[in-house]
Amino acid sequence: MIRLSRAIALPNLVLAAAVFAAAPAFAGPGDKALDDVRILSADDMQGRLVDTPGSEKARAYILSRFAEIGLAPLGDKFEQTFTFQKRDGATVQGTNLVARIKGAEDGGKVLVISAHYDHLGVRDGQIYNGADDNASGVAGLLAVAEAFKAKPPKHDVILAVVDAEEGGLRGARAFAANPPVPLSTIALNVNFDMLAKNSKNELYVAGAAPFPYLKPILVKAASTAKVTLKLGHDTDEAGKENNWTTQSDHYAFGEKGVPWVYFGVEDHPEYHKPTDDFATVPQDFFKRSVATVVQAAQALERDLDDVAKASGR
Ligand SMILES: [Zn+2]
Repeated sequence: MIRLSRAIALPNLVLAAAVFAAAPAFAGPGDKALDDVRILSADDMQGRLVDTPGSEKARAYILSRFAEIGLAPLGDKFEQTFTFQKRDGATVQGTNLVARIKGAEDGGKVLVISAHYDHLGVRDGQIYNGADDNASGVAGLLAVAEAFKAKPPKHDVILAVVDAEEGGLRGARAFAANPPVPLSTIALNVNFDMLAKNSKNELYVAGAAPFPYLKPILVKAASTAKVTLKLGHDTDEAGKENNWTTQSDHYAFGEKGVPWVYFGVEDHPEYHKPTDDFATVPQDFFKRSVATVVQAAQALERDLDDVAKASGR
């Protein structure tokens, strides 16, 4: 997430005690999601900065989960690489991981689920583990993939675990610039970025204001959600900094005219700090949050033809 309201925080010297969870009590979709967050935000991933050994290690784990879930790539491999220049002129290589679950109906519209796996790496000797930002979104995406494998979708669902979001949505923009299916067939992007931390049991879904035809689907999803699912953060009403339209990977789709829905929590004290680690994840909320996005993704997929029709795609 790239929140306009926050600058990169200075290293924080508070050491959070490690908490190791017992078996999850909340049974629902994505029971493995906690493990995914714990593993992806462990110190040995070194903050998953793009083009580092920690990033490579994160990819290896995500690919092992793809295999466990039984996902297939679109072409011959999951890895889609891209390069970009840093401000100092250095060339950086990013790697997206892209999989597809075939829909029961051939040749129709496609749903793209996205979540970025990169984070800020190590700064001044402190590891920015990025448990909420965005190991949590990757875990949510994997839970959605599991749900669609268990109950196959009508439409093709593409799972895009993207790199280099922090600092410019690079992976999502590379995906949208060179999509694995014609852009015109992508009816909707559903993006997850920061699903894990909120003290008020609140998760936000943005997208209903710019794409009003999504509102009934999202309102219905909210009515049965396991958290308080609030619609908003998609207009300038409460100030530009509270409009999340451009602040995560869904914007790369928005720039290309693809409608999007974004799920995420509001800012918290650990946002972009070394304390955003597994120990500070409220586990019950996170599991409820994952169950909520799984249900919502399934609802959006069910209604994808109506969404495509309403948007004129
Ligand atoms: Zn971020």
